[in-house]
Amino acid sequence: MTPAERLQAVAEASGLGPEVDQIGQALRLDQADKMVENVIGLFQVPLGIATNFLIDGRDILIPMATEEPSVIAAASNGARMARGGGGFVTSSTGPVMRAQIQVTGVFDPYGAKHLILEHKDELMKMANDKDPLLVKYGGGAVGLEVQVIDSRVGPMVVAHLLVDCRDAMGANAVNTMAEALAPTVERITGGRVYLRIISNLADRRLARARAVFPKEDLGGEEVVDGIIQAAALAEVDPYRAATHNKGIMNGITALVLATGNDTRAVEAGAHAYAARAGLYSSLTRYEKNSNGDLVGTIELPVAVGLVGGATRVHPVAIGAVKLLGLKSADDLSRIVAAVGLSQNFAALRALSTEGIQRGHMTLHAKNIAAQVGAKGEQIDIIAAKMAAEKKITMDRAAELLRELEA
Ligand code: NAD
Repeated sequence: MTPAERLQAVAEASGLGPEVDQIGQALRLDQADKMVENVIGLFQVPLGIATNFLIDGRDILIPMATEEPSVIAAASNGARMARGGGGFVTSSTGPVMRAQIQVTGVFDPYGAKHLILEHKDELMKMANDKDPLLVKYGGGAVGLEVQVIDSRVGPMVVAHLLVDCRDAMGANAVNTMAEALAPTVERITGGRVYLRIISNLADRRLARARAVFPKEDLGGEEVVDGIIQAAALAEVDPYRAATHNKGIMNGITALVLATGNDTRAVEAGAHAYAARAGLYSSLTRYEKNSNGDLVGTIELPVAVGLVGGATRVHPVAIGAVKLLGLKSADDLSRIVAAVGLSQNFAALRALSTEGIQRGHMTLHAKNIAAQVGAKGEQIDIIAAKMAAEKKITMDRAAELLRELEA
């Protein structure tokens, strides 16, 4: 299909009709100029659709913005293999973020901790007074925790304000609250507040997904065993875990970006969560069930919103949210988790069988052809020839281009 035909197919499959056009609309320069500073142009990234996703019983087309070939194909492939086991089933903790308020220069840090906790109700009310709209939508401060941390420059008391952010990612919302609380925290403790800002280690905003991949669909129990061996290394070896989690983020970042959300916030949260036990580890787990099928699970912080940030400004993000049929930011966070699991499973399956390069390079062949200067149809001809020869290199692409132009 051509991109226009695909968009038409997406409009029909999603039932959105012409409404889906928004997803194919580029950001305008005047819109971009209102988003960030010193704008001189736009940097575009391809937007594709991952298929086959069955999530909590619902068929969902996944918009993915990525520059990397094979990511969308692999996500779709993983989702196809999850269908036999009923697709992805998700859950979450709900959308609670933390703001940190750092108090220094107190003589009695544990006494200061208790003093802050004694003023919990007053501090939470003060936070909520800063964002009546968030409270109206059912969010707002839900808790206060205080830690005493021994640092290189002495003990610090760090208050954590927990805020239910509902459909907002929440950084601006909780930062505003933390700044508002700071003078009162100083008065209560007699200390000096420096930092007052969100933590991206959003461990109260976890999203989870689970899928059963039937062994027959994977190529037999040997493949199941291979995936478990590969995944076990990522649990205990940071060198492997970094690449394993990078593969998860291939899918997650593409979806987060397509919805206009903050990719860095989600990435920081994911990697910090992966290291929470002191050893950087994998965000997924794989096991074999009593039937010999593969059970894959993922859990990670996913701080995404449907209001705030760029989510309601960028036309493609608005279209992507419509296409996903989202009712809440929590819905989006759980779909993000399912996409991460699918992406990771597809990579592990390829790694445990034929290796990752065959599929990857076949899809990368067009980029290689374009890099040596092929244009239009030449790109398809050269890519197909290299894929058939199983020799996908720049040298070969250049040779084929010379032959075509001779
Ligand atoms: P925001 O301030 O633009 O919007 C959030 C506000 O929307 C809420 O405070 C609330 O008043 C209102 N609102 C309306 N309807 C709502 C609903 N249904 N649910 C919840 N709130 C509703 O955005 P934000 O989400 O607070 O902040 C996100 C932005 O902050 C992103 O652009 C992100 O890049 C940026 N940021 C991130 C960090 C970080 O992650 N460390 C730090 C600073 C800024």
